[in-house]
Amino acid sequence: MLEELKKEVVAIARQAEASGLCRHKSGNFSIRDEKTGYVVVTPAGVGREELTYYDICVVDGKANVLEAIPGRKPTSELLLHLKAYAIRPEVMAGLHTHSRFATAFAVVNKEIPAIVYEGAALGGAEGIIPVAPYGRPGTSALAESITGPIKKADAALLESHGVITVAENAKDALLKAHYVEEIAEIYYRALMISGGKEPAIIAPEEFAQWQYPPEFKLHNHTTKA
Ligand SMILES: [Zn+2]
Repeated sequence: MLEELKKEVVAIARQAEASGLCRHKSGNFSIRDEKTGYVVVTPAGVGREELTYYDICVVDGKANVLEAIPGRKPTSELLLHLKAYAIRPEVMAGLHTHSRFATAFAVVNKEIPAIVYEGAALGGAEGIIPVAPYGRPGTSALAESITGPIKKADAALLESHGVITVAENAKDALLKAHYVEEIAEIYYRALMISGGKEPAIIAPEEFAQWQYPPEFKLHNHTTKA
């Protein structure tokens, strides 16, 4: 069941691997089906190079496995994904990676402030990437830890562990995962070149004022017939 969504989740997982967001079997990916509420999710312990849509598991919101071929079981971080869906009804895709720069900040339990405009695309009112408090991987405690942060933003660092991003579709969840890693790398480099001095923060009012340049005349966007 849900073959198209399974193919989509494989494609997103492969893109994440190809772009260096996740490596060596770490990272897991899920998409929720709007109609049934079921979730297609990557299996535990299968590298992206061998991953096909046959390997993708289907679960319900209570972690009951509805479909999995022999030898395949959902990622051990399934509860993390299900928690995101439970707390954000509009969320339809979730990504969890250990991308390196972001995870470095997760390891030192340091949230990433709003230093560049991409921060505004991560759903948080202040452009901050928060840190969810430590929970052991694979446990309901880890899943519980994202409740506060993911209510406020589409991305969170997981203390001493990695990153989660959520969105209304898988492409956006992947884009947000890229933004998180890019912002984390920029923040790291900014701290390095300034001897650890915190960079300037972009205020929420400044984010709010961004608009597409109104002086550009977009004739193809006319509403006239
Ligand atoms: Zn992990």
